[in-house]
Amino acid sequence: MEVQQQTVAKLVLLGEMGSGKSSLASTVGAAFLTKTIPELNVKFEIWDTAGQERYHSLAPMYYRGAMAAVIVYDITSTESLTRAKSWVKELQRQGNPNLIMALAGNKADLEEQRAVSSEEAAAYAAENNLFFLETSAKTAANVSELFMDIARKLPRVQSSAAG
Ligand code: GDP
Repeated sequence: MEVQQQTVAKLVLLGEMGSGKSSLASTVGAAFLTKTIPELNVKFEIWDTAGQERYHSLAPMYYRGAMAAVIVYDITSTESLTRAKSWVKELQRQGNPNLIMALAGNKADLEEQRAVSSEEAAAYAAENNLFFLETSAKTAANVSELFMDIARKLPRVQSSAAG
């Protein structure tokens, strides 16, 4: 009998309040929370701060054990990118060194209000070895792609029966 092992990966959402973390979680939820990604056999446990980012001392408890982090900013807010950068710094200093980090420039549907250029964010992401995508929780653009790409980067479950 072939036993399929599943990777269950804790994934934390970080970012300034209002950047769209809860919205991204619910947009992706239909596809990822209630079922696994069959081709990859990965199930994400998505942790959303639910406003607790205000209590910064709680943060290490929140991201402990995470395999992936999505750091969200809002493309219409330069302040939200600054906040995202400080999360990246914190995770680089204190997080799991194998943590897969993605930067999500959310609210990409609000192009006419854009304050952060794609080029600036992409350059920052490249310097910091982050996977980068612009997303919209509203239109669902790039949301599945973001989580699929993270799933592909996860270390594969080592099965003793593999091969
Ligand atoms: P959180 O505090 O980071 O969890 O942010 P929320 O998910 O609560 O979103 C804050 C506000 O931004 C809400 O009014 C959302 O409807 C809105 N929002 C979130 N994502 C998007 C998006 O991609 N596009 C647009 N236009 N609005 C969004």
